[in-house]
Amino acid sequence: MNRKPLMAGNWKMYKTPSETRAFFEKFAPAVAGANERDIVICPPFVNLPAAVDATANTNIDIGGQNLFWEVKDGAYTGEISGRMLKGAGVRWVIVGHSERRQHFGETDETVYKRTCAALEAGLKPIVCVGELLQDRESGRTNWVLEQQFTHGIAKLSDEQFSKIAIAYEPVWAIGTGKTATPEIAADAHRSIRGQVQAKYGNGDVRILYGGSVKPDNIKGLMAQEEIDGVLVGGASLDPASFAAIVNQW
Ligand code: PEP
Repeated sequence: MNRKPLMAGNWKMYKTPSETRAFFEKFAPAVAGANERDIVICPPFVNLPAAVDATANTNIDIGGQNLFWEVKDGAYTGEISGRMLKGAGVRWVIVGHSERRQHFGETDETVYKRTCAALEAGLKPIVCVGELLQDRESGRTNWVLEQQFTHGIAKLSDEQFSKIAIAYEPVWAIGTGKTATPEIAADAHRSIRGQVQAKYGNGDVRILYGGSVKPDNIKGLMAQEEIDGVLVGGASLDPASFAAIVNQW
């Protein structure tokens, strides 16, 4: 694999600012030597200042978990813009996580709009795709991935596309302890990369795997040349466990 691995943690709705600081006191020294990969932690919005502060002068970047698609400030109670994230020292942002799709009405169209807003603010989006269990069981995985790619990603220009990463996260594997086998993950990655190549003629985008990644399954996943990194939920909350994932292969 010649793409630089990207190891990202999604904290979801966990931790307070003081718990955030405590995490980085342990995590930052544990991954200080891991320079040949990008390391990103995405805490809840209120923890971003603590996280940015705790990771100054380290090899760890901070990301948001979402952003609003409007670029200009305005009357959007409860929303956070890309410009605000950027101003807070954030470099990355997750877009279209399946929990946003499931609980907050995220669609491929809003994924596209948020990705554009992130890029306009100078953030690096990690755009999530992935099938539900019933899609997989009914043999529709590739069709679903194609739909999500076509409507949520493929409207980006070549230049916009060159700045994103894609996370393949089968919904049935998120937070369930059921990891996709490395072969299942690699198959889906090949399908996504095939669509990327057909549309952009460029195979360089990083495609991450997400879904119950743990220290004991990271090696098998990262051994697949199709997998360029991981997006980790539960196991990124514990500094020792996420450091083991970052360091262990
Ligand atoms: C995620 O939140 O993106 C995720 C993959 O969660 P978990 O690792 O807990 O399955």
